[in-house]
Amino acid sequence: MSTISNNLHIYNSLNGQKEKFEPIHKDKVGIYVCGPTLYSEPHMGNMRTFINFDLIYRYLLKLGYQVKYVRNITDAGHITNSAGEDVDSIGKVAKLEQVQSLEIVYKYNVKFQELQRIYNMLPPSIEPTATGHIQEQIEIIEKIIENGLAYEVNGSVYFDVRAYGEKFEYGILSGRKVDELAEETRTLNAQDEKRFFADFALWKKANPDDMQIWRSPWGDGNPGWHIECTAMSTKYLGNHFDIHGGGMDLKFPHHEDEIAQNCGALGCNPAKYWMHANMLNVNGQKMSKSFNNYFLPKEIIEGTTNVFEKPYPANVLRFCMMQAHYRSTLDLSSDSLNAAEKGFDRLSEAISKLDKLPIADSSSLDVKALVNSYYNAMDDDFNAPMLQAQLFESVKYINSISDGNATITVDDLSLLTTEMHSFVYDVLGLEMSSQQDDSKLDGVMDLVLNLRQQARTNKDWTTSDQIRDGLATVGIVVKDGKDGTSWK
Ligand code: AMP
Ligand code: ZN
Repeated sequence: MSTISNNLHIYNSLNGQKEKFEPIHKDKVGIYVCGPTLYSEPHMGNMRTFINFDLIYRYLLKLGYQVKYVRNITDAGHITNSAGEDVDSIGKVAKLEQVQSLEIVYKYNVKFQELQRIYNMLPPSIEPTATGHIQEQIEIIEKIIENGLAYEVNGSVYFDVRAYGEKFEYGILSGRKVDELAEETRTLNAQDEKRFFADFALWKKANPDDMQIWRSPWGDGNPGWHIECTAMSTKYLGNHFDIHGGGMDLKFPHHEDEIAQNCGALGCNPAKYWMHANMLNVNGQKMSKSFNNYFLPKEIIEGTTNVFEKPYPANVLRFCMMQAHYRSTLDLSSDSLNAAEKGFDRLSEAISKLDKLPIADSSSLDVKALVNSYYNAMDDDFNAPMLQAQLFESVKYINSISDGNATITVDDLSLLTTEMHSFVYDVLGLEMSSQQDDSKLDGVMDLVLNLRQQARTNKDWTTSDQIRDGLATVGIVVKDGKDGTSWK
């Protein structure tokens, strides 16, 4: 039993119910989230899913759990696209650019890591890669074969869905039954090696033009689409861990097949709670590379999309993302971003007033109840929009105290300050402008003024004036005095 008392309830996609969260191992939580396939720069839709899981990770930490958060990087493997074709997305780009597959992955991983910093996402405990775990994948496939649930054909290995169905239930997560799948899947053609249409590849024999190839007991080839997550989640979190997450679009077939692989190799569903984050849409349609309706996170920050009329800071985007519950779709529009910007500024302003509020002998509002409402919101399946609503109740209260229309005691003010800071900075992961500007701007100005001083020492008046005038255009006035240079 956990010693951390919590009232957290999580919507479990396995049964469609909100369940009380009881970790498997006392006070420790293991969470695995399917990470990106790095053949292009992650778009804002991808980021929404990772930001949602960042929020979930942050709240588990806030509750006091020791959390191991594993999010993989897909840098190998073939997927089956909607047309039933076998595609190596990374290899395709590598061929076009005439470089190695891992050069493509590296290039986009640098961008992905930068985006995580910009969006203030906590780094996971580990970001393991598929190519670093080929041996583990082979071992899992061998176990599935030993258990009679996979077969080899001509150097490829397939999962035997019919044999599996005799011992376990295929479709337990997605609710998609094999009979129903038959209707929506193309029929097997003569060249198909599979025994049954729903069987899926665990290992694919190498094609002569494959960019990445590994040795295996079945000959040279590549892992199938789903096996890396089974290998890496098991390696880092064990056969049965607390939470497995990913975007809603991964529920079928990816997560369904992961469950089948884990049950087939190790006898149990890998995770106690399955969580699925909903999609970021554009005009009601899922943002996706293949629909060509995507925008990149940096384009929104820099204001270079042709959709939004101005740039929005990363904090405002993060705030906007959290105005929708993770299980609801979200349409990103100028209206939603403008509203988020206003809200963010109001919250920021109220927080900056906290240390200037007058103290009274009594509080005109039940502050403990107000603070509890933050926990209640997040305990209800990580309801961030509800948390925001409660934070805005607090903003109203702060403004009333500041206007002399409400009161607060010293203890209540201390509680309110601590918990507002914690929920805004640590849980929602927002950096308030007042907080950022003061500390960061000081450092930047020291650097700029030093450079200007060097220019002046060298009698390079053009550069020195350029710096002074440039700063003036952004509202920073530089003054040269007897005691040195100051700015305001
Ligand atoms: P991928 O790199 O395509 O494997 O996607 C990485 C993650 O982003 C997966 O968890 C997807 O479910 C998620 N994802 C893809 N498109 C969207 C979208 N439009 N909104 C939210 N999440 C998405
Ligand atoms: Zn996965």
